[in-house]
Parts: sequence; structure tokens; C-alpha cells
Amino acid sequence: MNAFPETPYLLADPSRYGQVTLLGAGPGDPELLTIKAAKALQRSSLVLYDHLVSEEILALAPATAERLYVGKQASRHALPQEQIIELMLRLARSGRSLVRLKGGDGYIFGRGGEEAIALAEAGVPFDVIPGLSAAQGAGASAGIPLTHRDHAGALVFATGHLRSDRNAVDLDWEALARPRQTLVIYMGVGTLPVICRELVAHGLAADTPAAIVERATMPDERCLTGTVTTLPMLAAQQKVRTPALIVIGSVVGLRPLLAQRRRETNELEACA
Ligand code: SAH
Repeated sequence: MNAFPETPYLLADPSRYGQVTLLGAGPGDPELLTIKAAKALQRSSLVLYDHLVSEEILALAPATAERLYVGKQASRHALPQEQIIELMLRLARSGRSLVRLKGGDGYIFGRGGEEAIALAEAGVPFDVIPGLSAAQGAGASAGIPLTHRDHAGALVFATGHLRSDRNAVDLDWEALARPRQTLVIYMGVGTLPVICRELVAHGLAADTPAAIVERATMPDERCLTGTVTTLPMLAAQQKVRTPALIVIGSVVGLRPLLAQRRRETNELEACA
């Protein structure tokens, strides 16, 4: 069964093309959506959404809006990226405006750049609404400031996704192993042992604090901390699953002080 629309009638006049809004849905907690993103969803009539987008966020679109799942999970793609782009272009060229909804921020490991390039090249009008990226959500909810003057003067976002040769992550290990920076790795659950091993082999201190934050900002968030040496074993023992982010650097050592320092709302009300 083909869940996706057949080729709609294509307009010859680009001034009548629909508009595409590339929209970042934030890290998971629906309340972390921006006001601008919520308004765009409330106005939408067609939403193409990915795997990491919550029901609550999708529910902001009008009941009459069409919702198309085009999502990706590591090995199970509803639609390959080229076909997602093709579908967006077809719909926009037939005059339909749509929201392209992605987890986190579309321009951070969200392939939003590829989609924007395709839209720009096709002359389809588009706008980009940023979302909080998983790193920002995880930092706040797990009690890990991603930068701190005493710990890290640089913050690096890297992918842990394997290249097709399956044994190597294609990264600049020397740059990633530098001291006084925080390294956040997206899509690194499966390659955690390789990542930690390579970092130490390229000079990162073996006792550097490291964390893995699973389902950051969601009610069932889990955070495991250890060192770059112990984290792979801990993550395996605790069966950490995707989506999860790896955070490496001495800022992770601040977590015991900073996590769970929030007063419950009702406690605050009781005090007032
Ligand atoms: N565009 C997204 C990233 C998409 S890549 C963003 O800006 O956040 C998918 C990866 O993001 C996952 O493999 C995981 O590493 C990370 N991720 C997304 N949501 C997450 C969450 N709630 N908790 C932890 N990691 C998350």
C-alpha cells in the first residue's frame, strides 16, 4: 500500500508553489517547542514528520491537517531521504504548503541542510524554524552545563554514525580528543566502544568524565555517568537504547551537584 500521495498536478507557475516550513520540534518534551514552531503547526494543513516527534507535538496541527510519517530509525526508513525530498518538492510544486517536522533542530544532524538546498535549487519558497537540539535538552535536564569557564571553552557536536565500511567512524579523533572542550556525540549508541577507545588512543585522559543521556527531557529519561573508559561497559550493562547522546568532558563532573536541584511545583506552592 502506498501511503503517500500520487503525483499531484504540477503547477507551471513557481509563484503559486506552496511554501515549506522546516520546523525543529525540540528534544522530546513537547513544552520545549518554540512559540513560533507551535504557531506554524497550528496553521498547517499538511505535516511530514519524522520518527523522533512526539504525539503531543503532532496534535498541535489542526484535526483536519494531513499527517504523513516519513520517519527514519537507524535501519528502518519509511522513505529514503531522496524520496522525502522528492515528495516535498512534488507537493510544493502542486501548490501545497507543508510543515516538515523534525526532532531537535533540523540543521543539526537533521538533514535539514540537504532539504533546504533541494528546495532552494527548485525555487520552492521555504522558511526554517529552529528547535532546541537534543544536546541542549540533555544538558539542562541531566545537570550538565555544556560549557563552563573552568572546564570547557569549546563545544563540539559530532556524529557517531558508522560509515559504510562498518568498522570506522570517520572523525578527526585528534581534534575531538583535545582537552578543555565538551564533546557531544549524536547517534553514537552503537559505536560507543569505538568512540571511547579512539578518543583515549588519540590522547584524551582515560579518566575523563563521560555520560550517556537516554531519552533526554522525556519522563523516562535516564543518565549514566562514568569515565570514557567505563562508559561503554555501563551502557551495555544498562542496555541503553537510542535516542541517546554521549557527553564527554569534565563538565560531566558537575552533574552530581546540578541534577535534580529543582523544587517540585507543589512544594513551591506550599511554601508560598
Ligand atoms: N536534529 C536532532 C538530531 C537528530 S539525529 C537534534 O537536533 O537533536 C538523532 C540523534 O539525536 C539520536 O541518535 C540521539 O543521539 C540524538 N537525540 C535526539 N533526541 C534525543 C533525546 N531526547 N535524548 C537523547 N538523544 C537524543
